[in-house]
Amino acid sequence: MSTDPAQDAPRRVEVYPDREAVVEFDPDLTFECVDDCTWCCHHGVLLYDRDLIELAARANLAETTTDFRGEKFVTREEKGRDEHVDDDGRACAFLREDGLCSLHLEADWKPTRCSVFPLGVWRESDGLHVDIRESAHEHCEGLNVSDRRVIEHLEAFLPEVLWELENPDSDRAL
Ligand code: SF4
Ligand code: SF4
Repeated sequence: MSTDPAQDAPRRVEVYPDREAVVEFDPDLTFECVDDCTWCCHHGVLLYDRDLIELAARANLAETTTDFRGEKFVTREEKGRDEHVDDDGRACAFLREDGLCSLHLEADWKPTRCSVFPLGVWRESDGLHVDIRESAHEHCEGLNVSDRRVIEHLEAFLPEVLWELENPDSDRAL
């Protein structure tokens, strides 16, 4: 973290034309997903409405999604293996035995929330805010292990649909 307060102040970054994000994380933050760390795939993934439409074209929603508190999530399922699972032996329905995402690999697509991680987004009156998720500080192994500065690649983390959502809050889990 920088010791310069001006460096740490939120800053507005244009991610797409006329689509700005208020960045609350250290602009020096770098990220590269680490092979074998599948921590963020052990959870039930929040699905926005647009994700549901996309997922319906690629998978059986009845078998792979579930309702929780009025929202849709990808199901967590018992994997019957020791690797790439949470403490309870479960993980995202699309997480393969080799630790790769079958949706990403075989259908060239993944839910919005999977793109956003390890960041989190929420809306305030001045726009879409983005920061590192609280849980990522503890569990994500990809923070500050490369020279890929997140602030220079925000379009890779923040699909444009986030600006169109009434409630883009990504900090909702199954
Ligand atoms: S859909 Fe794919 S990327 Fe997203 S949590 Fe599941 S396995 Fe991981
Ligand atoms: S927790 Fe971080 S490093 Fe681990 S799989 Fe997820 S994004 Fe990659």
